[in-house]
Amino acid sequence: MRNNQQSYYPGGHLSREQLVRYLANQLAASEELKIRNHLLDCRLCKEALEGMETMENPLHLSRITRRLHSRAFHKFLKKKNNFFPISPAIYLAVIMVLGIIVLFSLWFFRR
Ligand SMILES: [Zn+2]
Repeated sequence: MRNNQQSYYPGGHLSREQLVRYLANQLAASEELKIRNHLLDCRLCKEALEGMETMENPLHLSRITRRLHSRAFHKFLKKKNNFFPISPAIYLAVIMVLGIIVLFSLWFFRR
């Protein structure tokens, strides 16, 4: 394995890609040994690996993660838009009612 490649997360844990490649048996023997040793000592990474093992296809994990991030972002945007809690349709309805009242009063007082 190349040394300039970051093999662990800043907290010292295995990356998602490493776990996926480990499950898919796509690692060099030396890296696989490192990961196996880490999994012996680290409950967090071991549980993450067990979670991935229950998935039908761990390779879809990044797509699922992207979708979750996207949903969280949209929820965040929705919360931000609460400055205007009334929907634009209600604003439009109020403007139309006011317009009808103005037109009616113009028609009524011209008589
Ligand atoms: Zn770990």
